This record gives sequence, C-alpha cells and structure tokens, in this order.
Amino acid sequence: MTSHLRSSSHPHDAALLQDASSRAEEIIRRLHQEYPEAHCALGHSSALELLVATILSAQCTDARVNQITPGLFRKYPTIEDFAAADQEELERDIFTAGFYRNKAKAIIGMARAVLERHGGEIPNTMEELVALPGVGRKTASVVLGSWFGVPALPVDTHVTRLARRLGLTESDDPNRIERDLQALLPEEEWVFASHALIWHGRRVCFARKPECDRCCLRDLCPSAA
Ligand code: SF4
Repeated sequence: MTSHLRSSSHPHDAALLQDASSRAEEIIRRLHQEYPEAHCALGHSSALELLVATILSAQCTDARVNQITPGLFRKYPTIEDFAAADQEELERDIFTAGFYRNKAKAIIGMARAVLERHGGEIPNTMEELVALPGVGRKTASVVLGSWFGVPALPVDTHVTRLARRLGLTESDDPNRIERDLQALLPEEEWVFASHALIWHGRRVCFARKPECDRCCLRDLCPSAA
C-alpha cells in the first residue's frame, strides 16, 4: 500500500511532533515502512467468509480461526448452508474457537437475516451490518474495511493497548478510541492503521512486556521504557 502521508522533514525530532495529529501521521508513516504488507490475518475469499471468520475470532486467536475455517467453508459453502445449519452440529464444527454456542447462534442468525433482508448479499454499510444478529461494530468495521474498501477502523485489544500507550487516546472505550483515531488520521489510512497497530502489537508492543528497545516508534511514544 502506498502511504498517503507526507514525510516529516525531521522524522526523529519528537519535539517537532507534539501536535497529536502530526504525531499520529508520523506513527502511521513509520508503520508503513515497517509493515508495508499489513493486512487482515483472517483467511477468507468472500464477504461472507470474512464475516463468519470475524464472528469466530472474538476471544480467539486468528491462527485458531484459520485452522477452523477452511473445513467450515467447504462444509457450508453458501449463506443458505449457514442459514439452514443445525445449531448443535455447527457448535461442534466451531467448538475449538470457544464461546461456540453464542458464535453458532450468531452465524445462523446472521445468515438468516442476510437472506431475509438483503437477498443473500452481505450489506456494505455500518448501519445494515450492525443490525444483523451477532454483528457488533468491530466485526462490521473489519468487513467494511478489509472486504468492501470502505474507510473503517476496527478497534480490538491490540489497537486499544497501542493507541493508549502511544498517547493517541485517553479512553479505554473502543467506540471512543475509534473516533479519536479517526479524528487524527486521514480516512484513507484508517484500515491500514488498524492492521498495522495490530501487527505491531503482535510483534513488538506486547501486552505484558513491550520490547521498546527495538521499537520503531520509540522516540514518538510517551510510554517508551
Ligand atoms: S515504545 Fe514501547 S510502549 Fe511505545 S509503542 Fe513501542 S513497544 Fe509499545
């Protein structure tokens, strides 16, 4: 992805980057250099697959979801298959993702609602997506940003942690963090910002022991140890 951000003429002079928006843009510019290929880690080849994978990913690692979904999508290749699924059988199919009862119920309810309300096509607006059973704002943002190319900024546990550590928000409410980051960044960077913060959180800025010594954002980060 090409960065839309202007380069700072003094990228290492944090004193020049006190303004939160300039600092946020410099952070994203560096993350473009560090993770040019940052993308959604959930395997999928359609909006339906991404929606199902994202529902499964709640409280579960993407790696675990990616172990489940290839077989799941072979068994239930269409939205009609999910809508007609037997709840207990689907629970067994997704058991290892955890919270399998709620997730199976959400997937079946979502599929039925998409058939009834949208003729089987996954909708491409936040309003319509969050009106589906089992689909929250974060799940909707993932599908909007990573499938439909609509500016969206999913806030998960990594984005929450990094945005707070980097001083880009003072809130711990995902909806508020989403608004704070969106206010600081141009909308063409929202999807990348979410992916890149997640990648950085998984590789360097760990929850328990962030590795600040090797962090490319160190001079921009008020939490650097
Ligand atoms: S400097 Fe440390 S706390 Fe700040 S973003 Fe980097 S790893 Fe995280």
